[in-house]
Amino acid sequence: MAGFSVAAGLRDAGYTGGVTIIDPHETALDRPPLSTEYLVGDDVELALAPDQWFVDNAVTWIQDTVLRLNQRPAHGSSRLVVETLTEQVEADEVVIATGAVPKTLELDKPVYTLRSLADADALRDALRPGTSVAIAGSGLLAPELATSAKHLGANVTAFTPQVPATQIFGELADVLYTTMTEQVEVVPRRLTVSENLDHFDIVIAAVGVEPAVTVAEGSGVSIDDGIVVDDGYRTSLAGVYAIGDVCRKHGQSRQDHWDHGRASAARVVHTIMGTQPDAPTPQWVWSDQFGHDAQAVGRVIPQAHEQLVHRGDNVIFVVDGDQLIGAAAVDDRKVIRAATRMITRGIAVDPDQLADVEMSLRQLLR
Ligand SMILES: Cc1cc2nc3c(=O)[nH]c(=O)nc-3n(C[C@H](O)[C@H](O)[C@H](O)COP(=O)(O)OP(=O)(O)OC[C@H]3O[C@@H](n4cnc5c(N)ncnc54)[C@H](O)[C@@H]3O)c2cc1C
Repeated sequence: MAGFSVAAGLRDAGYTGGVTIIDPHETALDRPPLSTEYLVGDDVELALAPDQWFVDNAVTWIQDTVLRLNQRPAHGSSRLVVETLTEQVEADEVVIATGAVPKTLELDKPVYTLRSLADADALRDALRPGTSVAIAGSGLLAPELATSAKHLGANVTAFTPQVPATQIFGELADVLYTTMTEQVEVVPRRLTVSENLDHFDIVIAAVGVEPAVTVAEGSGVSIDDGIVVDDGYRTSLAGVYAIGDVCRKHGQSRQDHWDHGRASAARVVHTIMGTQPDAPTPQWVWSDQFGHDAQAVGRVIPQAHEQLVHRGDNVIFVVDGDQLIGAAAVDDRKVIRAATRMITRGIAVDPDQLADVEMSLRQLLR
């Protein structure tokens, strides 16, 4: 997703050089629908653009796997060399957007993970009515998978050592967790080898991801829980950038959410073009689970000097003085739209007004 976004962003910005994407898949795909609409068999478009888009925008798609990024060749050329399974591709600049690889569990049962279209197809095949499935994880993915597996008629048990996605949805994670406990069996512990899994047919591991850094190993690019980048998504090697799930900004933790892929792609386009980046937007994350539309923008866990504001049962805000830092909402996307504007425009807020459900947020934007 992030790699495609760079190609599209470069063309939008008027970049006239050659643009090539190397990926083992047939085309660029979006991943979030894989755990929800696609898994349950809904008709959903996963391709990020039709084939004609690549023609119209002169973006070459090479269906291949990158093995490694080599240092600049010895024959005096200043170009970088990307070595694939079948060829060597030279480039002036390389953006690494290889995403992440799901972690798995070593168990005496078939264990499924979900990242690719092929993973989703295999999982859909395994999740038949009556299949007993144990789902392990406490992030965004496990509850989404539990929702889809139940929809497909499977008997679902979710092993979750803590309330899922608390770092993302803050206190509202409890609302989602309560719904999950009403819908499927929830076991509040980590799934380990010592668990008796006799009555499960399959296990799905949604226990996090590892950044897919293999292509950068040995290239001189600095790697430490992801490819380490600066604010402009430059790596330690000149002309090489990393974005999306595979990267980690120096001094910060790794972000493996869709909006980070989009935002890092937009930012690296400015770095490559040498143009002034737009003001950063607060990170937005969403999850569709058990009929709920959960969304968060910015940071929703208050620090000591900040105030947590509740607006009814399904909306929270974090406020620092008169500035909004973040918001989370369950089944109220208008709140997220309004909160995003308040944060990006620096609109002064009053915690009492935010908490007042009679006061429309649109009014507060004025
Ligand atoms: C099932 C699922 C559900 C999700 N749901 C949500 C959600 O609800 N909300 C949210 O915010 N985020 C969600 N995410 C996370 C989000 O999709 C990712 O953060 C986003 O896709 C990251 O973009 P990316 O480009 O870094 O990685 P990807 O989209 O994974 O793209 C990486 C690409 O690199 C290619 N690649 C890897 N290795 C090589 C190689 N050696 N050579 C060539 N190509 C290679 C892969 O084939 C892939 O096409 C979900 C992810 C998954 C898997």
